[in-house]
Amino acid sequence: MVKLKSTGIVRKVDELGRIVLPIELRRTLDIAEKDSLEIYMDGPSIVLRKYQPACIFCDDAKDVIMFHGKNICPKCIKSLQESLTQE
Ligand SMILES: [Zn+2]
Repeated sequence: MVKLKSTGIVRKVDELGRIVLPIELRRTLDIAEKDSLEIYMDGPSIVLRKYQPACIFCDDAKDVIMFHGKNICPKCIKSLQESLTQE
């Protein structure tokens, strides 16, 4: 169970369902304009997390590149190459 930390910030949802993330929060979490956030649900709570595309093979999110619409990491590319040359 993740312990929730209250920011003390209350925001109203507008007519289009939007809320503004306070600048202090964006600075703290290094969220820039046009960054993607992934929306999670935890019971009655909504959790926003910076979206990081993960490798389809190992779930690693480091230096992931997109290939034919799928995300793959350098490690898996390398092991793929190695397994192909071993044949
Ligand atoms: Zn991988």
